[in-house]
Amino acid sequence: MNKPVGARAPLKPLDEALAELLNFAQQLDGVESVSTFDADGRVLAQDLVSDLHVPPQDNSSMDGYALCCADLQGVDDVLPVAQRIAAGSAGVALDSMTAARIFTGAPIPAGADAVVMQEDCEPLAGDRVRIRSLPSVGQWIRRAGEDIRRGSVVLSRGTRLAPAELGLAASIGMGSLTVVRRPRVALFSTGDELVMPGEVPPGQMKAGTIYNSNRFFLRALLARAGCAVSDLGIVPDRLDATVQALQEAAAGHDLILTSGGVSVGEEDHIKPAVQALGELDLWQIAIKPGKPFAYGRVRGAHFVGLPGNPVSSFVTFLLLVRPFLLKLQGAESIDPTAMALPAHFAWPRPDRRREFLRARRNAAGGLDLFDNQSSGVLTSAVWGDGLIDNPPGQAIAHGEQVRFIPFSEVLA
Ligand code: AMP
Ligand code: MG
Repeated sequence: MNKPVGARAPLKPLDEALAELLNFAQQLDGVESVSTFDADGRVLAQDLVSDLHVPPQDNSSMDGYALCCADLQGVDDVLPVAQRIAAGSAGVALDSMTAARIFTGAPIPAGADAVVMQEDCEPLAGDRVRIRSLPSVGQWIRRAGEDIRRGSVVLSRGTRLAPAELGLAASIGMGSLTVVRRPRVALFSTGDELVMPGEVPPGQMKAGTIYNSNRFFLRALLARAGCAVSDLGIVPDRLDATVQALQEAAAGHDLILTSGGVSVGEEDHIKPAVQALGELDLWQIAIKPGKPFAYGRVRGAHFVGLPGNPVSSFVTFLLLVRPFLLKLQGAESIDPTAMALPAHFAWPRPDRRREFLRARRNAAGGLDLFDNQSSGVLTSAVWGDGLIDNPPGQAIAHGEQVRFIPFSEVLA
């Protein structure tokens, strides 16, 4: 048997691979204006500065009565109710020794300095009210600008927009937002064993074939990372077909992403095909799962080749491709927030590579480990709700704190 070429190349630490990759990811040229409704997940291309205070004026945070504290001598004073101010109306200045019926969100009239909630008031006949508790100045008043000051930067460029950010942008009057354009990504799978679900029923699968699962999660992951995806399907394990697919994909895409074929076996054509058209680095990254990984350039496009094993493909996407795509979009914050949690299992025989173990949080606040950590077992990624980032060669004792990256941190 031939010894695989490059088998003795030193393994590259993940942090080094990520730093190199991010260095290649310069922000895309091109911004677009999108409706604020449609901006979830997009990256802001410019700072958002508020042209107004939010809230725009002092307003009531309760249904009750607005009054001037100095008008009250003691509890149970009675004041005439001179006006009624509902949310959306403005009221008039409050005469001294009167109260205004007021509702949540309605502006505080000039002359009033507190609101007494209606539960502490007794409406009396003849439009009067008895005030049963003495308010302090400012009580139940939301101050103008307490959320946002006019002139302040509400969201800075490079912010990845999520639902709360959309609401905040809307609160300063932004009906549309300027965001970095979506990365255009061409996706294809390699492997003659691959069959598309829906095309061949399980009972008629030929020996040696499997369903293409990577194509489904990669497409979904790309969409979640803000990309416009061209799915080029399955490319046969032939050099000419691979070259042709790459050539077509290079036109009009920022990134070509493939799965499979990046090992250095005879059926792995990614390396020679990319090299025929551009340049390629085959990295053996010191992580498990996911060792083989390729980065290159094909014409003007970036190229990333993921391993074929489903869990390897999934994990390397999350650890390397997702940050790369966010950086292309100019996102400022791309590192997931990890947490320290106790292992409710033991891992006595760690790998020499840095491992990303599929685990999930349990009701006792610890982590359970999926019992099959094979890179082909995609069930582990479904059963788990995150990855334990375990340093090279480090055994884990029951109860020990480990670094856990929830999938929610890297799937949004
Ligand atoms: P490769 O990297 O092409 O050598 O593939 C490694 C393993 O992953 C093989 O067992 C392949 O059958 C499997 N594999 C490759 N691509 C896919 C895919 N798209 N879906 C499911 N399994 C795959
Ligand atoms: Mg293959």
